[in-house]
Amino acid sequence: MRNQSRLGRRPRPEPPWAATEIICDIYMRYSEEFVQRVLEANNLQDLISEVTRLKPARQGFMGRCPFPDHPEKTPSFSVSESKQVYHCFGCGKSGNLLTFLRDYHAMGFRQSVEFLADRARIELPKSDPEQAAVEDQGQQLKRKILAANAVARDFFVTQMNERSRSYLQARGLTEATIATFGLGFAPEGWDGLHRALERKQISLAVAETAGLLRQRREGTGHYDFFRDRVMFPIRRVSGEVIGFGGRILATGEPKYLNSPDSPVFSKGHTLYGLDQTARFIRAEDQVIIVEGYMDLLALFQAGFKNVVATLGTALTFEHALAIGRMTKNVIVLFDGDQPGQEAAEKSLPLLLSAALRPRGLVLPENLDPDEYLLARGAESLREEIQRAPDLFNQVLLHWTLQYRGTTTEKAGLMEKCQPLFEAMKDSRLRELYLADFSQRIQVNAAQIKRFFAETRSSSGSHRPTERKQIPGQVPPEERSDGEVLVNLKQAPKAERLLLCLALRSRVQLDFILQQNLLELLFHSGIKQIFQWIRDTYRQEPEKFDKLASLITTRIDDPGVVFEFDPSNDDNEELEAEVLRDCVRRIQTDAAKFAIENLRQNLKINPTREGMEKLVQLQKDRLNEYAKR
Ligand SMILES: [Zn+2]
Repeated sequence: MRNQSRLGRRPRPEPPWAATEIICDIYMRYSEEFVQRVLEANNLQDLISEVTRLKPARQGFMGRCPFPDHPEKTPSFSVSESKQVYHCFGCGKSGNLLTFLRDYHAMGFRQSVEFLADRARIELPKSDPEQAAVEDQGQQLKRKILAANAVARDFFVTQMNERSRSYLQARGLTEATIATFGLGFAPEGWDGLHRALERKQISLAVAETAGLLRQRREGTGHYDFFRDRVMFPIRRVSGEVIGFGGRILATGEPKYLNSPDSPVFSKGHTLYGLDQTARFIRAEDQVIIVEGYMDLLALFQAGFKNVVATLGTALTFEHALAIGRMTKNVIVLFDGDQPGQEAAEKSLPLLLSAALRPRGLVLPENLDPDEYLLARGAESLREEIQRAPDLFNQVLLHWTLQYRGTTTEKAGLMEKCQPLFEAMKDSRLRELYLADFSQRIQVNAAQIKRFFAETRSSSGSHRPTERKQIPGQVPPEERSDGEVLVNLKQAPKAERLLLCLALRSRVQLDFILQQNLLELLFHSGIKQIFQWIRDTYRQEPEKFDKLASLITTRIDDPGVVFEFDPSNDDNEELEAEVLRDCVRRIQTDAAKFAIENLRQNLKINPTREGMEKLVQLQKDRLNEYAKR
């Protein structure tokens, strides 16, 4: 009865899988062949080895699960080198190169493909020759800027001295945090970095475009842009430095200075810290947004690792979209001062229109997060975060502090709140907020809605709920022709197991194909994937080992590849027995289904042929049983 229990077992949490959007993202630019070529040129085990130690094991490699929501002492994370897939037997996460980059490094699919192509030194396909020349130059410049930034980062790290170190220590940062975030120091002179760049043969023009050097106003030559500052490298999720933030050490203005925008860096699109924090954000399904570098570092060090910082700028819609790819649950943590309050208010419509669920936390006594932690400790902050009210209600409360309930005040507040309501993507949420608002200003909801409708029509073509078109962002219509992930989560266990077994050995796949089982499969997703496997395998049998990895980008539950757990059983005989059991189960279910179908039809339309067929089907079933 071992097999029975095997079929009945499915211990797997549902992974957060926002996939349709991701898969469309792949196909909108790169051909499937290109994506496959890039995947084949990279090694999953190398990539994962960068974040967790893998040791050779029977079926590939084993290590501790690298995902932050699954701390463990004994390794249960397995990587199959031949199949290029991973699976954690502890938490159930599984997938291939692309899902790993998504879940660990928070990369979109397109970004992942470009990242992997770059790793394997594969050139990106060009759309048309003229465009190609321009793109080529652009790409080259970007690479050069990243190289210049890398030299600058190394230089700043070597320049750390007593003074900068003791400043950071006074702000409560540990050596570990300083190292994790790669902090450094830009010395006082005017040409320290300049000379370091020259030594590494970095073009000064490139360094100028990168914002590292400035042209002298008088005479010729360049000088260092950052001087006497503690330096915070701003990194992509993939680790490359795209810009810097610098905090002045002595007194002076500006207190914080960022790299100017460049071909690789845009303040309005970039969130600080994501290279270290994205995996925590995904794992905890919540993000804390703060305003500055130091706030982020203080929180991270205190154990709040699901955090990002805007670069001292206001939150933008692009920031909100980037956050929305990781989680919907947002805590906006702003300084308790007036500008902090205003920033929180301004971020509200942006967060709502990106369909996020923002809560707001304004710290008491004008403390910033860094000071708060020093004064009151992490536990107290954790409680504040748990108690944080909806940002909408908080903003509303602030707007109604002086509220006395006059008619003009009511009209004024309704006007002020209208854009917020129109930004809300979730209609259920909108109704709930409307109820709150209605109570707060003592105007009934129907009246408020009428007021909104009239304001809208009197302001003409104003259609505020339309989403802003973001450059580089593809409108939904164009995405709709992309592929949608095949749903396997609801598939019957026997069929999931059959799929897994088919991918485990050629002999088994051949056997399944010979049995004509595909016609009998009940679940359309499994059927679809099997048909694809059959076609691919027949055309290119040498690709057998790649099949598992190839299907993981097409299905909603890559764990299916590990449905049969090899870590406990290494017994080929047992595996063959499980396969036979699956086949039998599928045949029996299909027969039952056919009989039931025929019965229902006979009720409506009793024919002689139908009756005979039913008798025949039942006989076949009995014969099947007799054979067993
Ligand atoms: Zn795990």
